[in-house]
Amino acid sequence: MRRTRHLPQRSCVACRQVRAKGELVRIVRTPQGEMRLDQTGKLAGRGAYLCRDQKCLEQALKQGKLGRALAVPVPAEVMEAVRESLAGRHAKEKQAAEEAGELRSISDAGA
Ligand SMILES: [Zn+2]
Repeated sequence: MRRTRHLPQRSCVACRQVRAKGELVRIVRTPQGEMRLDQTGKLAGRGAYLCRDQKCLEQALKQGKLGRALAVPVPAEVMEAVRESLAGRHAKEKQAAEEAGELRSISDAGA
């Protein structure tokens, strides 16, 4: 059985490495001119891609590559969202480590 679908590939705006779309974080400039982190890969607009790598994010931000790629400044909240999205990958490991030993005080600040 052959199910070799052509995988869409994109290059990272920071390191220029070409990867499968799914390995990259998509950031979109919406038709309204806002920059947003695209969690689903389905937002309409012009997209820029970044490796799921802190280094590429920092590089893209410091060198203004992300803003240039989309021709809009990067809002702080988008920066944060991308950072969180990258950090999320490690959240499980972190949680496991915390459960294993270091028990932090559970702050249950109900909504
Ligand atoms: Zn990269």
